[in-house]
Amino acid sequence: MTATCPQCAAPDQSVAVPQALADVASLDGPVRALLAPPPEPQPAPARTSTAAITLFAVAGVLCLLGVLSQVNSGESLDRYSTAYRLGYRLGPFVLPAILAAIGLAVHVASRRRHDREAERNLPVQHALWQRHLRVWQAGWLCRRCWVAFFPAASVHPDLPASPAIPLAQFPQWVMTAAGPSAVL
Ligand SMILES: [Zn+2]
Repeated sequence: MTATCPQCAAPDQSVAVPQALADVASLDGPVRALLAPPPEPQPAPARTSTAAITLFAVAGVLCLLGVLSQVNSGESLDRYSTAYRLGYRLGPFVLPAILAAIGLAVHVASRRRHDREAERNLPVQHALWQRHLRVWQAGWLCRRCWVAFFPAASVHPDLPASPAIPLAQFPQWVMTAAGPSAVL
């Protein structure tokens, strides 16, 4: 299949974008980047929630204060019972432990919520990506003018041919042509 470049009106230097990319030697890095296929959507990385981080931080500080207070306290506990001594030693760490446990619960809940949302959104993003990919595959490159173009009916049977598209604008054309308000 050949396609006529809208700028030089000749088909001899025209090549489909996927084919142009496959020809490794013919394109330099910046051109290759502009013609690259739209990236497959990835689920957003899960982040630890601010509430969980705050709880962990407060627990950490309290824990440290507990350790310091025990180190600095020269009081002898020999005259007290084992249970009292244990309570005295462990007391300062009860609150940090509770806060850390709550922080962990908050973190797990937030991670689950994030995973559910990602699971729900990914099929939608994937369908849009498929549309972007189809438009991208329909693109052509003229290696004389170094412009991209979409021949008539290449993206959709009813769509006329595009004008010559500067390569810097090609990714944007791919995105908008596949969207709900298609410009092609
Ligand atoms: Zn041309």
